[in-house]
Amino acid sequence: MNIAGRLSKVPGVMPNAKASVLETFSAPLELREFPLPTSIEPGAALIRTEMAGICGTDVHLWKGQLPISLPVILGHETVGRVEQIGAGLEADWTGQPLSAGDRVTWTSSTSCGHCYYCAEKGQPTRCPQRRAYGIGYRCDQPPHLLGGYAEFHYLQPRTNIFKIPPDLPTEAVIGAGCALITAVHGIERICAERCSSVAPDRKRGRMPELPASWRENVIVQGAGPVGIAALAVLKNAGAGQVIVIGGPKHRLEMARRFGADHTIDIEDLPEPAARLDAVRQMTRGYGADAVIECVGLPSAVTEGMEMCRDGGKFLVLGHYCDGGTIALNPHVITRKQLQIFGSWSSEPRHLESALEFLRRTQRQFPFDAMVTHRFPLERADEALMATAGWQSAKSVIVPGLSTT
Ligand SMILES: [Zn+2]
Ligand SMILES: [Zn+2]
Repeated sequence: MNIAGRLSKVPGVMPNAKASVLETFSAPLELREFPLPTSIEPGAALIRTEMAGICGTDVHLWKGQLPISLPVILGHETVGRVEQIGAGLEADWTGQPLSAGDRVTWTSSTSCGHCYYCAEKGQPTRCPQRRAYGIGYRCDQPPHLLGGYAEFHYLQPRTNIFKIPPDLPTEAVIGAGCALITAVHGIERICAERCSSVAPDRKRGRMPELPASWRENVIVQGAGPVGIAALAVLKNAGAGQVIVIGGPKHRLEMARRFGADHTIDIEDLPEPAARLDAVRQMTRGYGADAVIECVGLPSAVTEGMEMCRDGGKFLVLGHYCDGGTIALNPHVITRKQLQIFGSWSSEPRHLESALEFLRRTQRQFPFDAMVTHRFPLERADEALMATAGWQSAKSVIVPGLSTT
């Protein structure tokens, strides 16, 4: 039986899927209905959405701070169950058999595999062919359902799909969201002992490990989802003392639950000079081996470079949006002989290691507890606002959740 026949309660009537749509920047999301595809093309899949995460990037997209073409169904962190599977799609990315009813997640974008960056330079996250679900696809053209804030999600052929192990809760996968895979990729880049384009951990299924000389003191700037995820990855990577700088208080409490050795509240110490003093006191006067910027404000970058010890590493992980410019004295980089890293998005192998990491460390790193606010699809707007206002650790949309 075709999808329409199977899902429709009324025989012969094409079933629709509800979706929350960004039609105008900074305006409330609109609840719309789209027809489900009449057939699934080979290699594709139709997923019934179980939970969709709200990422900080969604807030930037909503405000029009990234160049996207509207209307769009937002949502690039999604878990769902396979409803229908296209011909030839028999296994997930890791080779496990895939069938209807399986609980899955996927990478939001897919690299082409044969361009300059994919094939020659080993930087597939910079492949120009990448377009992300929930960001780069208009929903007014078939197959419409290419974002998480919807009852169903269409996965195009070549999507990197991952089956979720039965003992890993959906909340943990969404609580970790794109922040965890972003952190895994970024921290992998700082893990080479010496300057090298290839980190030692660039292997499937391996989580990054800090070399001995970069694990005594590490600073995470920012206690949002990326900061918390970076903290977990660093602790797992062998970091000794991790200092998290951020706010508000509920986020710093979460950081302590995730094993932060010290937290610095930016409300208690609003002056950068005072924060630098505090960091020096905690690091024998030297500063940190590595500083991970997970804030997204340009001023955090100059502050973070000062917090590095001489010869330290600085990773700019939080600037997914163009937050503007800041005066920078390059003498700092030379004098302190810093190594400065950038990292964009993640590769499928990072999602593979992240899922295994989540499964293995559920007790130590309670990512499921990050999901603090749940909303039905009809209230997607409130979910977005809770994220925009830093009220939640993580807001999620659960289609079908009671609207009251
Ligand atoms: Zn995201
Ligand atoms: Zn490519």
